[in-house]
Amino acid sequence: MTTLTPGHGPQRTTGSTPTHGGPALPQEIRLVTEVPGPRSRELAARRTAAVSAAVGSSMPFFAHAAGGGVVVDVDGNSYADLGSGIAVTTVGNSAPAVVQAVTEQAARFTHTCFMITPYDSYVELAERLAELTPGDFAKKSAFFTSGAEAVENAVKIARAHTGRQAVVVFDHAYHGRTNLTMAMTAKNMPYKNGFGPFAPEVYRAPLSYPFRDGLDGPTAAARAIAVMDKQVGAANLAAIVVEPVQGEGGFIVPAPGFLPAIAAWARENGVVFVADEVQTGLARTGAWFASALEGVEPDLVTIAKGVAGGLPLSAVTGRAEVLDAPVTGGLGGTYGGNPLATAAALAVLRTVEEDGLLARARQIEELLFRRLRALADRDPRVGDVRGRGAMVAVELVAPGTTEPDAALAKKVATEAARRGVVVLTCGTDGNVLRFLPPLSIDDALLEQAFDVLDGVFASA
Ligand SMILES: *Cc1c(COP(=O)(O)O)cnc(C)c1O
Repeated sequence: MTTLTPGHGPQRTTGSTPTHGGPALPQEIRLVTEVPGPRSRELAARRTAAVSAAVGSSMPFFAHAAGGGVVVDVDGNSYADLGSGIAVTTVGNSAPAVVQAVTEQAARFTHTCFMITPYDSYVELAERLAELTPGDFAKKSAFFTSGAEAVENAVKIARAHTGRQAVVVFDHAYHGRTNLTMAMTAKNMPYKNGFGPFAPEVYRAPLSYPFRDGLDGPTAAARAIAVMDKQVGAANLAAIVVEPVQGEGGFIVPAPGFLPAIAAWARENGVVFVADEVQTGLARTGAWFASALEGVEPDLVTIAKGVAGGLPLSAVTGRAEVLDAPVTGGLGGTYGGNPLATAAALAVLRTVEEDGLLARARQIEELLFRRLRALADRDPRVGDVRGRGAMVAVELVAPGTTEPDAALAKKVATEAARRGVVVLTCGTDGNVLRFLPPLSIDDALLEQAFDVLDGVFASA
């Protein structure tokens, strides 16, 4: 049975008109070959010969189509998508409004370079993001292509604004793979290993991690502030960069009060507070931006992943006077704010509003927590269930301890794929299973996916 979701538009089933996704893909898990099937195996062999072995893929099959809540592979197998291409296809894959906007824009012009000949969608997107990011103050934006590039530019902007150099990041942080963002990312393997030397003036403070440290938010914040004060010195500190809910680091939700205390300290000391909302941003957590759920108004927000429905776009949005600090021409990039991507992003914003996707993310949160708490009650290897909106994870441990069980996470993800569910792992210890379904997925498919996962856990 397909559950109709209020405010979310009609759900798709076999033969119905698509509201999300290109072709009318049946919204079901359906395997017609072994996984991976023969076509995927053939492509995998070609890939091994032609693609760098350093580029990994967690799924063993090749994509053919995707939409609503499914990914269909080249052998015709249909999988429930609980990953959204790492939190990117929040409004659904090939969402109709995105496809239409990109198609129309491609027919008009594909590129002029905003630094050469500007165009209106760039300006309109900056206006919209100024409204949607937390804080009632004058804001401006600059656009780039990847999340890492947005983070790098946020640091550049903060340095230009403050005349200071140091940057503080947190334990378990993930900020990207460029040289500066590798320095900011916590985890060595595989992101940094063998790639040094890294950029200087990056310092790491302890995060609030309720499952492991048991500290309340203010106490955890005092611990981090002591590090910033004593090891860096506020007078040297340009920016604090923090994910409101950590992404790759394990979907760690800081204890209440942690982020407000850090933000208050930043404000008192003239430090630019940067919320890296590349993963949490754009409706994923049930708010436009997760900072709002913490009662925090960042000076700068970095935005990417979910913003443009799969087209490469990132943004730094924040206080107008901070964005204006670098010299004219100091920010930019050939493809930054490419017109196909800005058109897609405006369509994403419209889709979130028209399909009621903030409310839909909160409904998905309820469903995920219900299923995962029931699993945790049965299975002592599930140590913690946490997250916000359609960004929820379980941390897997040796029963009764906080000792990470990465092998189990890997086994579950691998077996889930074989049974038709795309699920991703994360965490510094690799022992976290994360759930990031597109908000266009329907309840029936989500329940089917969690039935499969229950079976996988029972047999793992
Ligand atoms: C994915 C991610 C990045 C890096 O984004 P890319 O587009 O892969 O460069 C930065 N910060 C956070 C929080 C992320 O999740």
